[in-house]
This record gives sequence, structure tokens and C-alpha cells, in this order.
Amino acid sequence: MAERRVVPEVDRAAASRRALERRRARAALKRDLTTRVLAPQDVLRQAVEDADSDAATMRITDFLMALPAIGAGKRDRILDELRISPVKRLGGLGVRQLSALSEWLDERFPVHTPRPGRSRLLVLAGPTAVGKGTVASHIRERHPDIHLSVSATTRAPRPGEVDGVHYYFVDDAEFDRLIDQDQLLEYAVVHNRHRYGTPRGPVDDALADGKTVLLEIDLQGARQVRAAEPSATLVFLLPPSWDELVNRLVGRGTEDAEERTRRLRTARAELAAQNEFDYLIVNADVATAAREVVDLSSGSAR
Ligand code: 5GP
Repeated sequence: MAERRVVPEVDRAAASRRALERRRARAALKRDLTTRVLAPQDVLRQAVEDADSDAATMRITDFLMALPAIGAGKRDRILDELRISPVKRLGGLGVRQLSALSEWLDERFPVHTPRPGRSRLLVLAGPTAVGKGTVASHIRERHPDIHLSVSATTRAPRPGEVDGVHYYFVDDAEFDRLIDQDQLLEYAVVHNRHRYGTPRGPVDDALADGKTVLLEIDLQGARQVRAAEPSATLVFLLPPSWDELVNRLVGRGTEDAEERTRRLRTARAELAAQNEFDYLIVNADVATAAREVVDLSSGSAR
């Protein structure tokens, strides 16, 4: 009689743990695709380069459904058009299928290309909790040659915040006056709550002194600066992953659950606008991201 192989308990437990980890990793990758933290081309590249990667084990159907604005009907039409069977995984695509899929992705999700040769007016934007403020503070401490703009805001100071250093804390009447007298380069209501704006005078003075000026502002403000100063350098800070962004927001513990939900909704909308920016920088490590911002300023044209 043939001997039946018995899989030891420990092996089975380890295998199911690995399978669970894989599923979790693939679910995280899908969130990165849906929120545009990762470009689909990057995920496909990972799958091709490493047959054992989480990307390689992702089903083509899951991959397509994770992309923004693709539902089941569209998914099936795309698979038909690209002649890919729905049971395929990214790591198992043939050469022709890969090139058809890459071409389709490039057309549908154009890859971000940096636009070099911009001015010394630097705008740093990015979703909530990505670490814009931390990167900006890091630059302020180490690069006194870079002028970090101090915004006016109608929100109340948080413990430790100093008027004139972190913000100019003003009331609504004062903010209205700044707008009426055209003293703000840009301004916006952020997270549907308070008003924030960039005083124009100090920015103009620092630029006239030949300094680099850094504005740490939200997406609406970045768009206004682009309209007012088309040569401004717009930098978008990306989180290393969507889950990391959520962790950072929860971890800092400064917002309640409702406010966090509101901020994450804004974050999705901001991430969807990343292609409007000249440069994308991933904030995996503050010192590295800060250096990349500073390097942009030293390479800027005017
Ligand atoms: P916070 O209240 O946490 O200090 O800042 C909230 C948001 O307001 C951040 O996303 C920050 O980038 C943005 N912000 C700060 N100053 C300005 C500003 O002058 N203009 C605009 N448009 N946004 C700002």
C-alpha cells in the first residue's frame, strides 16, 4: 500500500501563516493602488522583477479592480481587449500580455515626469499626516538660508506653538483685512474648518534678497500659487504607503475619529492631484525627504 505523506502540524501552521501574511500584503498593495500612493506601473514592475513578490502573486482581476474608476464591467472589457485570462496573476503574464498591459496603463495613467528648471519659490504640499510640517521644521533648523514662510491662520494655537514662529494667529476680522488689502499670496479654508494664508510681503522680500522661499501649504493654496506664479516649484510629499499614512495620523493622536475620517477623505482627493506637481518626493525618512527638497532648491533656476 502506498504510504500517505502526513504534513506535520507545525509546517501546516507556518504555511497558513505565510498565506495570511501574503493576503494582507496584497490587500495593502491594493489600497496603495486605489489611493494612488503607488503607480500601477510600479506594481507591475515589481511583479516582473521579482517572481516571489506580493505584486507577482496578485490576480490580474484584483489589480485592475484596485485601479481608480475601474469596475467589474470595465475590467472584463479590458481583459478581453488585452487578451488576458482572468485567472492570471501578474507574475504569470506572457511577454505580449505584459507589453499590452503596460501600454494600456501608460495611456490611462500617464507616468509623472518631473518639470525641472523652476523658480526659487518652493511649495511643499501633500496629504494630511504625510509629515510636511516635520520636513519643513527639519529644513528650518538646518538651513537658515531658506526662508520658511509663516502663515496666518484663524485656528487657535496648539500647546507649544508660538505666534510669529509657527503661525500668525489672527481672528476672522484680521484675516478679512489681510484679504481686502491684498496682503495674502494665497489663502484657503483647510479641512473645512479654519482659514490659512501666506503673507505676501515676507515672501517677496526674501525672493528679492536672493533667498529660496519654502511654503508649506495645502493643495488649494498650491494651485493658487501656481496660478499667481507659474514658475513656482511645486513639490508633493507622498507617504511610503496608504497604511503608513493612516498609522501616522492615528499615531500622532491630535485628531478624534471623526476628524481623522474627514482628513483621510481630503487626503484621497489630494493624492489624486499629485500629477499637477513638478516633483514627487516619498517621505519614508524625514532627513532624506528634507534633503531632496533642499537639493531641488539649490538646483532651481531663478
Ligand atoms: P495645521 O492646522 O495642522 O497646522 O495645518 C493644517 C493644514 O493647513 C496643513 O495641511 C497645512 O499645510 C495647511 N496650511 C498651513 N498654512 C497654510 C497656508 O498659508 N495656506 C494654505 N493654503 N494652507 C496652509
